[in-house]
Amino acid sequence: MKAIIWQGTNKVGVETVPDPTLLLPTDVIVKITSTAICGSDLHLLDGVIPSMEKGDILGHEFMGEIVEVGRDVKKLKAGDRVIVPFNIACGLCDPCQRGLFSACDNSNPNHRMAEALYGASGGGLFGYSHMYGGYAGGQAQFVRVPFADINAHRIETDLRDEQVLFLTDIFPTGYQAAEQCGIQPGRDVVAVFGAGPVGQFAARSALMLGAAHVIVVDRVPERLAMAEAAGCQTINYEQEDALVALREATGGRGPDHVIDAVGMEAHGHGPGALVDTAKQRLRLSFDRITALRWALLSCAKGGTVSLPGVYGGLIDKVPMGAAFAKGLTFRMGQTHTHRYVAPLLSRIESGEIDPSFVITHRAALDDAPELYRTFRDKHDGCIKVVLNPWA
Ligand SMILES: [Zn+2]
Ligand SMILES: [Zn+2]
Repeated sequence: MKAIIWQGTNKVGVETVPDPTLLLPTDVIVKITSTAICGSDLHLLDGVIPSMEKGDILGHEFMGEIVEVGRDVKKLKAGDRVIVPFNIACGLCDPCQRGLFSACDNSNPNHRMAEALYGASGGGLFGYSHMYGGYAGGQAQFVRVPFADINAHRIETDLRDEQVLFLTDIFPTGYQAAEQCGIQPGRDVVAVFGAGPVGQFAARSALMLGAAHVIVVDRVPERLAMAEAAGCQTINYEQEDALVALREATGGRGPDHVIDAVGMEAHGHGPGALVDTAKQRLRLSFDRITALRWALLSCAKGGTVSLPGVYGGLIDKVPMGAAFAKGLTFRMGQTHTHRYVAPLLSRIESGEIDPSFVITHRAALDDAPELYRTFRDKHDGCIKVVLNPWA
C-alpha cells in the first residue's frame, strides 16, 4: 500500500510499504477513505517529538471502511464505515472505565519511555512516535486498529467524510477545551489564542456552550477571517497589543476563560535542550511561550485557563504569580476523544455545526509531502488539509 512515511527531520515522503495485518483477535483493518494532516504532525516533522524512527507511518485523523475483522471483535463487521479517533484505548482499565480514555493504562507498550519523562504514561496514539506506542498511522491506504470495539466508531448517517472526519481529533479537542472552562451561558467571555484548526473548533464550541462573547487572537488574516465568520471578535496581535485589546473588550476585567490553542513546540530531550529549542523558535511563528503567558496575564479573576495546545516538557518564565493572585484554574491534557464522538456527531447531524468549514486543501496522498510544507509555512491560505489515499 501507499503511505506517508517519516524519513527523518523535516523529511516526509510517499512510500510503498506492506499492508497491515491483524495482529490480535481484537483488531480490525480499515481501508482509509479520508485522512487529514494535523498541526501536531508538524511537531513530528521538525523532529521536536522524540522517538520517531525512519519508516514510521504518520497520521492520526482518519476514517474508512472495515475490510478485515479479528475473531474477538463483537460490535463491528466488514463493510462498516468508521471514524477512528487518535487515541488508542483498551476500554477495560480504570482510566478507560472512568472515561479518561487518553490516560489508558494498557494501550502503550512503550509506557516506560513516557514514565521516565513524565512519571506516568498516557495511552497509545496512532502515528505519533514510539514513546506513544509506535503504532502505524493512518496517512495510508490501510491501517490496523487495535481494541477495535472501543476505537472504531461506526458512522451510520449519510454525512460526507468531510463532515465527520474531524471527530477523530480537532473537533473534540476544541470542544473539550471549551467544556473544561465551565462557561456560564449568556455571561462569560472566552478568549482563544491561536486560530488554527483546534482554535477554530474551540471558538465555535465556546459559542455552542453559550459563551456571551468569544475573542480570537492570532496574526494570520485568513484564520482570523474564519473565526469572524463564526461570529467571533478577533484581535491581530501584530496590529494591536493583545493584552490591552482584551482588557478593552471586556470592560477591564479580562476574559473569564482563556483557551491556549497554540501549545508549545519545545518538547524535550532534557531541560537544557528544551529551553534552547524554545528560544530558537521564539518568533518563528506564534511565540509559543508568549501564548501561555498572555493567557495567564489576561484571564479574569477566578477564571479558567484551558490548554488543548500540546505541551511536552519544561517551560520557562510562566507568570505563576498572576495565576495565584487571580485564583485561576488550569485544565489541560490530551482529549478523551471517545467520550465526545456520539454527542458531537448528533450536533453535526442536527446541523448545528458542519466541521468541513475548516478545510482549505483537498489532495491525493502523493501530494502530502508538498502540503506538509504548505501547511507548516501557512502558505496559500492553508488551514486544514484532507487527503484521499485512493485519488
Ligand atoms: Zn490531530
Ligand atoms: Zn484502557
